[in-house]
Amino acid sequence: MKANQVSEIQAFLSKPKHIVIVTHWSPDGDAMGSSLGLYNYLIQKKHKVTVVTPNDYPAFLFWLPGNEKVINFTEKASPAKKVVANADIIFCLDFNSLKRIDVLGDEVGKSPAIKCIIDHHLQPEDFAKFMLHDIKACSTCELIYDFIALMGDEKLINKDIANCLYTGIMTDTGSFRFPSTNPKTHRIAADLIEVGAENAEIHNRIYDGNTEDKLKLLGYCLAEKLTVLKEYGTAFFALSNDELKHFNYKKGDTEGVVNYALSIEGIHFAAFFVERDGEIKTSFRSKGSFNVNLFARKYFNGGGHANAAGGMSELSLDETIIKFISVLSK
Ligand code: 5GP
Ligand code: MN
Repeated sequence: MKANQVSEIQAFLSKPKHIVIVTHWSPDGDAMGSSLGLYNYLIQKKHKVTVVTPNDYPAFLFWLPGNEKVINFTEKASPAKKVVANADIIFCLDFNSLKRIDVLGDEVGKSPAIKCIIDHHLQPEDFAKFMLHDIKACSTCELIYDFIALMGDEKLINKDIANCLYTGIMTDTGSFRFPSTNPKTHRIAADLIEVGAENAEIHNRIYDGNTEDKLKLLGYCLAEKLTVLKEYGTAFFALSNDELKHFNYKKGDTEGVVNYALSIEGIHFAAFFVERDGEIKTSFRSKGSFNVNLFARKYFNGGGHANAAGGMSELSLDETIIKFISVLSK
């Protein structure tokens, strides 16, 4: 963010405003951590703040401070439309294209509010007046930390904000192991722990709340659903709706499964396909130089980061796999 933008937004936020924070479809730890981290900062500045998500998210994120005030657009469209239409400024966090928030994007697009993108994904669209964008940031939570510091308010980072921001940094870095983890990541994490982030407890809340169904689904994926294509250095999982039902699937139950495919020696490209809401949701992960953002954009109407991206397919599950294998050979 340029210096003139910083002072402009600082001046704008110097008086109480109506603020809406939106984040991407199927919010993850970084999406909810950054949204509620920013929320817990802005309410201290006496703004009226509402977080709106396009749809629901995993229960292991419900403990985040401020979660009880979040409006889910899919469940409560009319109050969500009202706050979006009446907002002075809308923060768009952890995404950079209005199509990532589905029909909520139409409401955000037509709202007269000023837009501010804070994001770390590749190829941002140009729909916002303000943008704090850095593809080198490990997470949007890191950028929220930077944003609060840019506003000169580092001292306002309290335990609630720290717990939110630590969550997104931890989840988006795969617990500090992905290449996006650098000295700054650890410095911020250390600062957050110093002001009260409960690091061990957060890890426990996010990763140790497994249900029996979730673990059995993971076991089933590993034992029955893994396909390894050695010739392409690729491995993938595909799950049908019936299989999800069999394991009483709940939101978040397949999160992270794709990483097991990437952990196989000699595999540098991993994919996960799952039937959801009449479409196929795809997840892609890579190691090294293979850019899955470009792959997801080109073939699966998606996007993301160079080594972690996602998309959709309107074909059947079987047809999607056939398409995937056929483009691999290209
Ligand atoms: P995941 O596979 O965990 O759903 O997503 C991996 C990364 O890609 C995340 O940063 C996520 O925000 C992004 N992503 C997932 N699905 C899509 C999509 O359909 N479109 C775009 N542009 N990004 C996506
Ligand atoms: Mn993120």
